[in-house]
Amino acid sequence: MVEEKKQQVQGVFYTQTEEEVLSNLGTAVEGLSDAEAKKRLASYGANQLDEGKTKSLFVKFLEQFKDFMIIVLMAAAIISGFFGDVTDAVIIMLVVVVNAILGVFQEAKAEQAINALKMMSSPHARVKRDGHVVTLKSEELVPGDIILLEAGDVVPADVRFLEIASLKIEEAALTGESVPVEKSMNKIEDAEVGIGDRTNMGFMNSNVTYGRGIAVVVGTGMNTEVGKIADMLATADETKTPLQENLNQLGKYLTIAILVVAAVMFVVGINGGKEAIDMLLTSISLAVAAIPEGLPAIVTIILALGTQKMAKRNAIVRKLPAVETLGSTEIICSDKTGTLTLNQMTVEKVFVNGTLQDASEAIDTTLPIVQIMTLSNDTKISSDGSLIGDPTETAMVQFSLDKGLDVNGLNTSEPRVGEVPFDSDRKLMSTINELSTGGYQIATKGAPDELLKRCTHYVVNGEVKPMDQEMHALILATNHNLAKQALRVLAMAYRQVDAIPAEMDSEVVEQELIYAGMIGMIDPERPEAKDAVATAREAGIRPIMITGDHRDTAQAIATRLGIVEEGNDDAVITGAELNELSDEEFATAVTKYSVYARVSPEHKVRIVKAWQKKGKIVAMTGDGVNDAPALKTADIGIGMGITGTEVSKGASEMVLADDNFSTIIVAVEEGRKVFSNIQKSIQYLLSANLGEVLTLFIATMVGWTILTPVHILWINLVTDTFPAIALGLEPAEKDVMKQKPRGRNSNFFSNGVFPSIIYQGIIEGGITLGIYWWAITFPVHAGYDAAHLDASTMAFATLGLIQLFHAFNVKSIHGSLFSVGAFKNKSFNWAVLLSFVLLAATILVPGLNDAFNVAHLDSYQWLAVFVASFAIVPIVEIVKFFQRKLVK
Ligand code: ATP
Repeated sequence: MVEEKKQQVQGVFYTQTEEEVLSNLGTAVEGLSDAEAKKRLASYGANQLDEGKTKSLFVKFLEQFKDFMIIVLMAAAIISGFFGDVTDAVIIMLVVVVNAILGVFQEAKAEQAINALKMMSSPHARVKRDGHVVTLKSEELVPGDIILLEAGDVVPADVRFLEIASLKIEEAALTGESVPVEKSMNKIEDAEVGIGDRTNMGFMNSNVTYGRGIAVVVGTGMNTEVGKIADMLATADETKTPLQENLNQLGKYLTIAILVVAAVMFVVGINGGKEAIDMLLTSISLAVAAIPEGLPAIVTIILALGTQKMAKRNAIVRKLPAVETLGSTEIICSDKTGTLTLNQMTVEKVFVNGTLQDASEAIDTTLPIVQIMTLSNDTKISSDGSLIGDPTETAMVQFSLDKGLDVNGLNTSEPRVGEVPFDSDRKLMSTINELSTGGYQIATKGAPDELLKRCTHYVVNGEVKPMDQEMHALILATNHNLAKQALRVLAMAYRQVDAIPAEMDSEVVEQELIYAGMIGMIDPERPEAKDAVATAREAGIRPIMITGDHRDTAQAIATRLGIVEEGNDDAVITGAELNELSDEEFATAVTKYSVYARVSPEHKVRIVKAWQKKGKIVAMTGDGVNDAPALKTADIGIGMGITGTEVSKGASEMVLADDNFSTIIVAVEEGRKVFSNIQKSIQYLLSANLGEVLTLFIATMVGWTILTPVHILWINLVTDTFPAIALGLEPAEKDVMKQKPRGRNSNFFSNGVFPSIIYQGIIEGGITLGIYWWAITFPVHAGYDAAHLDASTMAFATLGLIQLFHAFNVKSIHGSLFSVGAFKNKSFNWAVLLSFVLLAATILVPGLNDAFNVAHLDSYQWLAVFVASFAIVPIVEIVKFFQRKLVK
């Protein structure tokens, strides 16, 4: 894009009045028209930060050759070409090029998958276009757009505020100041002030922690304050998963070991009278083939393919390592509302004037309880009559509407002039409304226990009385009684004042209130949650419920879902009780608790840490802006796709597109499958490599020329890759969710993979050497040369084929091949077929066999090759059979 076009409208917006800003940006409070926004998007570009230059295919291709061993191999091939072995040199180069192309393809595939993930989790913003509020991808914002912000949003661009209500924004990423900044509407006179002091502005990627606001976009993309420092931030993104890091480490050890073996082979070979250049090529080819430098790319592909599967099942993984960690999750801490329940609230019970009644019974809508629940409420009634807002609040408006209250009329006649927004720490919300009869009213609703602390009076049948012991006890008993029935209980209170409170602060506003009554709301459990809890338990995972709701409500629902046993009161703890425990005490006691009630977001961090101290891998869900620290602390932070705030999603490793607890279990299952499939790929590749190393090493020791460099490279670089990737697509084994989690200290060698690699490698090498020995000892063709060529060809075919047969064995690490379905994975079938064709072609295609220096085998020899190669299947089956017996 032409640089000029990217230029944003210039101006120091914080020194201008709102009107000046709007007119300078050619916009108005109703927002831009769609057509104008499109035009601006075309001229300013998308609202995103440049992510550095993407490399061209050619550069990626060249990068495949930066590996030292590959360079040495090519050099050796060229030298050998000079000494006359031109065909070999050409084929080696060809194999290296094919391998590089495969490498580019693999990397591109992994990159594509990661980009697709990024797209899925890209943030959204609420924007006014043509006078309507619409939700758009943040990338589509342009200067002049009017946006709406509230607690939990990530500021999507640089903005100037037009309207604010108690708005606080955390700008640590830009200013280093972690305490949220209180925003104001004041025009700033000094154009030179630092970012932190431009209090009437909001900056891209900062987090709204409190309140709400309306703002006009003044800068997008690279023209924002973060855009200016984006280069500094861009590099941090390329994280390696722990598994990939382990693999790199393993690669280093293997490289040393293989280089030693190759060096010994080289020396022994020359001493045995072989040509130095031949031995050099053989040793280097072995080193190139046996060092699993392609493994990290294969692992990335398997992880990335895993994320695609998860996305189809509503679990959107934002960070690749999460796939790996998910499979080892031991504790899942889940919010109740919306995750374990449907978050579809309906008022069931009303406690008013000292008596409890059914919600279906008639009620006078002029009663304070009804007025307060309607006024202290952010629900919007859309033009088609549907209710938009938080389900706890829409349920109350629905109740008022059902009882015949003119909700819009009430909101117009008693307009809101101030508010103290809801937050999950206080568990209260208040509005200040100007009364049609004169004066103002504070309308507060929230958790009964919290609200009661702030009530000095109560109202009954229109009469206001001082709060007494009796009423206090009755309110608490009724709350307890309703909560026991799994109802969410909210209380309402009010107070009349002469003037708007000077400060919109809980300490000022929510005091000396008059208690007006309570309502109990039902929020049904998600139908699939109970089964998901049972599956989790079977898989050795402990589900834990965390909620802001009352202890009794929480326990009742947890019991229904099977998270706690009936009547097990000891498994439930409240936030207040938790406050009494020191971190040490809590860390010892944490295993007791399965339900946390009336907790605040900061308790979540303590819960995660206590479990982590026990060495457990913890997943934690969260939706609010205050949940971000807990989401970050957890091994797997899980955000909510529908109800979650942008901030909480940004802090998560995974986002549930459907907010559903059972999706977590699905993701864990996928995670376990992916890990096990990676183990299979590793087992397959490393046992094959060991087989090759052993074959060549022993052959050299006894003076056999068993395989040429071309053979080794062909088998390892060309035919092995496809089955290794296809193993990553294996379906889950039947018992994945019946095993215990693998734990924090496990790695890809755990679960018997390491010994399997060793013995299977030995079998592969042993059979290959065996068939070679057999062929030279009992030659079909007379004469040493012909016999040798036949034997070498048979060894080549056997080593290749045995790996393809062995690929079937590793479909299950311990289970029988017959229990997993040998041909279920179609990609695997194709991969094995392709590898087989690539292998067979070198022997069968006239011309190619000359180039590959192999003989034409007769049917008798082919039969021997097949029987010998296939032998690995029954052998491994028998070993696995005894392994299973021993483990039991
Ligand atoms: P979780 O998803 O953790 O289960 P929750 O919905 O139970 O969350 P919060 O939303 O923090 O937790 O609610 C905690 C308590 O705050 C509720 O039990 C209720 O008493 C009160 N509350 C919830 N929503 C509102 C609201 N909009 N206005 C006033 N009080 C509310």
